[in-house]
Amino acid sequence: MATVYFDEATRKFSKDDAPAVDGITLDIADGEFLVLVGPSGCGKSTTLRMLAGLEPVDGGRVLVDGHDQKGVRPRDRDIAMVFQSYALYPNMTAAQNMAFALDNAKVSKAETRQRVAEAAKILELEQLLDRKPGQMSGGQRQRVAMGRAIVRNPKVFCMDEPLSNLDAKLRVSTRSQIAGLQRRLGITTVYVTHDQVEAMTMGHRVAVLRDGRLQQVDTPERLYDAPVNTFVASFIGSPAITLVESSVREGNAEVHGVSVPLDRGVAGRAGEKVVVGLRPESWHVVGSPEGDGDSSSVALNVELVESLGSESFVYGRPAGAGEDAGRVTVRLDKRTHLTVGDVVHVQPNRGEVHVFDAASGERIG
Ligand code: ATP
Repeated sequence: MATVYFDEATRKFSKDDAPAVDGITLDIADGEFLVLVGPSGCGKSTTLRMLAGLEPVDGGRVLVDGHDQKGVRPRDRDIAMVFQSYALYPNMTAAQNMAFALDNAKVSKAETRQRVAEAAKILELEQLLDRKPGQMSGGQRQRVAMGRAIVRNPKVFCMDEPLSNLDAKLRVSTRSQIAGLQRRLGITTVYVTHDQVEAMTMGHRVAVLRDGRLQQVDTPERLYDAPVNTFVASFIGSPAITLVESSVREGNAEVHGVSVPLDRGVAGRAGEKVVVGLRPESWHVVGSPEGDGDSSSVALNVELVESLGSESFVYGRPAGAGEDAGRVTVRLDKRTHLTVGDVVHVQPNRGEVHVFDAASGERIG
């Protein structure tokens, strides 16, 4: 087991382009499951590949257990990588694929057999050990790729979108299997995904990247409840948070014509431009859905209803507002039946408002 420390780590592919990874500092604890998440091209894979030694570090350092990895070859790093493509050898059986790295490392035949058998048991691959990748389903291949990492008993697991080739249902079940496995093995894991739900459900902590820069590293709960800026606020949470430009007046911010009381810290910033964020569950319906609202509620023209069975999400545009006013997303319980074209009156819940500085996007309350 091991700690991992990115110390201002930077990767610049060409001198004319902005760095793909721009001075990332990140301290990963022994046994931690750390997820790197962010939109396509934000530098997640490059960060992971620097740790695995597959990408040079152009500035700063990457340390494992306090040792700078500069000059240490990938195969000497004691780090096992699981790729999106699985990278299995097609002509080898599952057992041979798992044993391959151990054979190369001159581990004895008996020990190799034992380690493969143990991994196969953990991953329920015992019946499939003689099959070649072409004779296995995507989920089974994924487990062989995991098995290959496990048998090495490495200091660190690096996983780059290992679930993206699985169908939606298998992805959800494999998600919890990997998280459970990591908990049992206690091996420090750095996991890359662009899927924020995957990140939130698997990571002890989640690091959000944007344009090669770290935005926030926090527990899933903190990321959701206290995003440091509008980028993190809109990236984390599905459906996304509603962000509305406003300004502070007499301790309130106006959201589509409705006064929303602000915390004391923010309320004093009279006249300042802010962005107010409200999550879908931070609204409630006023009166009957079809009834009249009052001046303290927002009348929404319903444009889309997504019913998930246990709850539904309504996407609406404030009545009277222009096209550029943006939509408001509201979670409703399943008993509220609305259809496109209805008008629903909603009110923000007290104390559930996020406030950001309009110019910088930074959280202020
Ligand atoms: P995705 O989710 O799409 O895989 P990512 O967040 O993993 O994206 P990276 O693959 O780390 O992003 O790429 C970060 C940036 O570096 C991108 O702008 C990409 O175009 C650039 N990049 C990656 N690899 C190379 C390379 N070998 N040469 C030049 N630029 C590269």
